[in-house]
Amino acid sequence: MLDRTGRFSEPCDLAVRDGIVWAVGRALPIDPEAIDVDARGLFVMPGVVDCHAHLTQSTYDPFELVTAPLSTRFLQTAEALRATLRAGVTWVRDAGGADAGVRDALATGTVPGPRLGVSVVALSRNGRHGDGAILGPGLESTQDVLGPVYPDRPAHSASVAGDLPTAVRGVLRAGADWVMIYASGGVMSTRPGFTELPFAPAELAAAVAEAGRYGRPVMMHALGARAVEAAVAAGARSIEHGIGLGERAAAAMAARGVTLVPTLSSYLDLAALARTGVLPGWAVERAESTAAALTETIAVARAAGVRIALGSDARHRSRHGGNLAEISHLRRAGLTPPEALLAATSNGATLCSPGHGWPYAESPAPDAPDHGVVGSGQGGTGGRRGRLAPGNVFDAIVLDTDPGDLSLFERRDFVRGVFTAGRPVLAHPRLPPALARTC
Ligand SMILES: [Zn+2]
Repeated sequence: MLDRTGRFSEPCDLAVRDGIVWAVGRALPIDPEAIDVDARGLFVMPGVVDCHAHLTQSTYDPFELVTAPLSTRFLQTAEALRATLRAGVTWVRDAGGADAGVRDALATGTVPGPRLGVSVVALSRNGRHGDGAILGPGLESTQDVLGPVYPDRPAHSASVAGDLPTAVRGVLRAGADWVMIYASGGVMSTRPGFTELPFAPAELAAAVAEAGRYGRPVMMHALGARAVEAAVAAGARSIEHGIGLGERAAAAMAARGVTLVPTLSSYLDLAALARTGVLPGWAVERAESTAAALTETIAVARAAGVRIALGSDARHRSRHGGNLAEISHLRRAGLTPPEALLAATSNGATLCSPGHGWPYAESPAPDAPDHGVVGSGQGGTGGRRGRLAPGNVFDAIVLDTDPGDLSLFERRDFVRGVFTAGRPVLAHPRLPPALARTC
């Protein structure tokens, strides 16, 4: 069993009752009523927490995105959720797209999938990275193609909302657990590129303060040292991507307990795409230089003592369900195997746990609206996931072999069993029929 140090322990027993880890130890007394699973020789670890995915997106193709009916998008989301769960991801922080309805349907078991924390829509500025509009000769779409527009969906654009704090209030009213802000351009932004900062420091700080009044933390997309420093100074709780952060930014992150979610998978995918010749020259250059900066980014963050958590940035049907490849990428980029396994489990659970080292969730302002979520653990891990310890939720995955150098996680069939809250959702062949049937 994976222990708190990120290493697999000597063989032990694990008792689960009502979905909760009851006891862990050697030669536990066996409850005669309990179902006994002989897991000798198998490897058990907590379910993976993916801190950055987009479950409502299944394609990169803008034409498919604009022509798919809304119902198609949500049914594709159900498929993405199922694939993600069966891959061993039991908790996801959606970085834009999934709304409160998707989260709540998962919490009540209406559809199979991991439990979810949602940001509803990722906030951007008009014409900048993430605004999701299509521009061309004779064509001006102000619609967001990444996340479909539908009645009551809050504005994803600070320009449309009026200003950034107003946009923040919009997503919070819609039930967001997190506020997601594009604090820099992206690698593929044509105008003006990822070094551009779309928001002034004061705007970012005002957005964090507004979210704080509602007891919600803020995650910020930030690439490059300047953007990361601005995001950290403004009060972001996690930095998404963070590629090219410098030593000063990393030191600030460590000092403030800000987590880095580097999403290496998406940049490796982009570099692979660049090699196929379908990207324009400027994009090939950026994709290659970004991929070349991944190892250095991890090294700088690791040396400064920044907590790193897994994020797949999965937003394509070929990637939902392949989330665990990120564990291998983190290892290849310089984390030790125990560090990479903790990044995939307890580090993400800590980040997504309301109140864990975060003042806002502990003491929301008296006038904060009650979405019925703060403190309920509905949109957060509640500090009871990411580690197999007594009192924690039994979200777990079962492996047939020692993951060794972790490259085995790149294989889709490597995870052989998945449990969520004690219930098998991918039945390992060793499960007794009585338990396997509940799948
Ligand atoms: Zn993303």
